[in-house]
Amino acid sequence: MGWDPLNPLVVLGATGSIGRQTLEVADRLETPVRAIAANRASDELFEVAATLPDAMVCVADPGEGRERFESAFGDRAHFGPGAVTEAAAIAGSTVVNGIVGAAGLRASLSALYAGNRLALANKESLVAGGPLMLAALDEGGGELVPVDSEHSAIWQCIIGEPSDSVSRLILTASGGPFRGFSIEELEHVTVAQALDHPTWLMGPRISTDSATLMNKAFEVIEAHFLFNVAYDDIEVVVHPESFVHSFVEFVDGVVKAEVGLPDMRKPIQYAIEGPSRQKTEREQFNVSGVSLTFEDPDRKSFPCLDLGYEAGRMGGTATAVLNAADEVAVGEFLAGRIRFVDIARVVVSVLESHTPTDPRSVEDIAQADAEARIRATEISGRL
Ligand code: MG
Repeated sequence: MGWDPLNPLVVLGATGSIGRQTLEVADRLETPVRAIAANRASDELFEVAATLPDAMVCVADPGEGRERFESAFGDRAHFGPGAVTEAAAIAGSTVVNGIVGAAGLRASLSALYAGNRLALANKESLVAGGPLMLAALDEGGGELVPVDSEHSAIWQCIIGEPSDSVSRLILTASGGPFRGFSIEELEHVTVAQALDHPTWLMGPRISTDSATLMNKAFEVIEAHFLFNVAYDDIEVVVHPESFVHSFVEFVDGVVKAEVGLPDMRKPIQYAIEGPSRQKTEREQFNVSGVSLTFEDPDRKSFPCLDLGYEAGRMGGTATAVLNAADEVAVGEFLAGRIRFVDIARVVVSVLESHTPTDPRSVEDIAQADAEARIRATEISGRL
């Protein structure tokens, strides 16, 4: 163990919420940034690239923005999906993968095969391609560490503990903006309401996934692969204050938790420098007067949570299908074409019609993903 926080960073999804906060943390830690990548040649990416004169700038799908980037950044600019996977493979890097959706899997695999430290914010990499990710980690000999606050909490609780000493993981969930809503009330919620998350500031996909609890379902699957814990031993508890970022129970009955003010910059920093810790000025967590509440998730109003367990237990390509169907359904919801409650209906239908197989390559995953998207689009169109 021990990762040098001065190892250069490769930041994938540099203009997203995680990417921007990663660059802020890197600036504070004085960690050099070797490459940044984003899907589009946006103004935001252009501005970020201008502040990092030594970094490669990779744009997966530049479209008409290509010329502008080429003339401004010259040799630093690289284009196409291949440029992103190549950046992830730059030897000796810490690769922060903040790409949104299943598109992040290839870059994650590339980082792991290259033996890099992969700081994973793109949970879809593990949801869609868990077995492939573990094989790549094994072959490359690098590291796979979480950025997600819950998994970072678990990592920080189990560090230094014997590997067979964990008996249960308890993931906390804020419950999202619709906590306490009945199924009837959920029939009428709007996109604006779904995007109004009570504690975390995030992009539209993950905000919607937090509102349906699909995000927590993905996190259960992510925890299963990251920490090698059976689905029966992973629980979810709703904790609206979001101060406890998760619990780990050990075989002797001891329970540890990581607690503090919600701030994604902390798990991002730990993913870069952990298990080292650099002194950082942050708002202090004043324990006195704080009350913490915990409750069981409402599995009837939020069926996506159990869909995650179901797909996880089905195994193989089922979790890739779960993710693909959800990506389509969330997109349809955000575009105003289906209702909030329809998201789970679309995902259930797609999952029920899928026979999982063991993925042997990223192409197998891509095929299951593509089929699920077609099916999810069809079903959404009929609702
Ligand atoms: Mg999380």
